[in-house]
Amino acid sequence: MTRMDRIPFNLPSMVGRELEYIVEAVHGGHLAGDGVFTRRCQQWLEEQCGAHKVLLAHSCTAALEMAALLCDAGPGDEVILPSFTFVSTANAFVLRGATPVFVDIRPDTLNLDERLIEEAITPRTRAIVPVHYAGVSCDMDAITAIAARHGLRVIEDAAQALGSTYRGRGLGTIGDLGCWSFHETKNFISGEGGALVIRDPGLVERAEILREKGTDRSKFFRGQVDKYTWVDVGSSYLPSELVAAYLFAQLEHAQEILAKRRALFARYYAGLVSLQDEGLLRLPVVPPDCEPNGHLFYVLLKNEETRDALLAHLSANGVNAVFHYVPLHESPVGRAVGRVSGALTHTESTSRRLLRLPCYYSLTEGEQDEVMDLLRRFFMMRQRP
Ligand SMILES: *Cc1c(COP(=O)(O)O)cnc(C)c1O
Repeated sequence: MTRMDRIPFNLPSMVGRELEYIVEAVHGGHLAGDGVFTRRCQQWLEEQCGAHKVLLAHSCTAALEMAALLCDAGPGDEVILPSFTFVSTANAFVLRGATPVFVDIRPDTLNLDERLIEEAITPRTRAIVPVHYAGVSCDMDAITAIAARHGLRVIEDAAQALGSTYRGRGLGTIGDLGCWSFHETKNFISGEGGALVIRDPGLVERAEILREKGTDRSKFFRGQVDKYTWVDVGSSYLPSELVAAYLFAQLEHAQEILAKRRALFARYYAGLVSLQDEGLLRLPVVPPDCEPNGHLFYVLLKNEETRDALLAHLSANGVNAVFHYVPLHESPVGRAVGRVSGALTHTESTSRRLLRLPCYYSLTEGEQDEVMDLLRRFFMMRQRP
């Protein structure tokens, strides 16, 4: 590695039998989707996460698109979501012609502020899409109660939240639909990859059809129909067995991966809390109902200038930190197709002050100490006149 990327922001790791399972898939003679590894992954996820039904997808973006199709979002419909999120959360609905309605985040968890949701609801609202930022849960009791009162669907963007819980329930399994990501930057990976979680049994059959190009092919393979045919709209959302084989090897080591991520989070927290005590930065906040998965570690700086200076300082010392998100309501497409509900003060302020530190399975304690030393040195240099 060059000096410039001594400590990268992310590094995908193999943790077990990934290559062995890929070879097994190749020799098994079934490389398309829905083979033995896909079934193993789905069953594992259903059992371990308490999900009614899980369908593997080729990305969380694909799972979100299926969710948007399943709740029949269309032109004129509105969907409530944070502006502080990844583009896919909104794109899934924009592709259907629906309007994203952006609501501000809570300053503590950086999640959709449940107290601001009701004032964003109109007769055209169809769904609420909470995003569990950093694997820390939104206030799901409040959100599901609001949805029930107004007859709305809840679709969890749990891309970052597999392995996290809220009051003992797995994130992604609480809403009508949930979406997980196995992108190489997430906790459990397959390069690209994702899954749709379906809590409402009434949505399972249609979900299988949408995922199989709008055909009843899944029923055909189960022997429930004699031939398969085109019965609905749809696309190809299923991953290849090569991808599922890699993923299954990761899931077999899920507890180790979770433990490692949580340990990294705890170490960053313990190592940086003195800087927080001095008022130099703010660390992540985890409400008592949530048990997160240590997905990512961020710090919030005083202002944008400090954040950018710290980013440059880390980069000059070979540490690749990153920031996100450009608020969707400030982006060209968000402006053109979205609507804002109320002031997005915390969204705007957070996106300018947030910095994510390197956090991945193979990050060593020594590397983590180096990152933390660089942070301490940065503030020492700044405090000195
Ligand atoms: C990563 C991510 C996605 C997209 O996941 P892909 O699997 O890359 O499609 C969507 N939403 C959030 C909040 C994410 O962090």
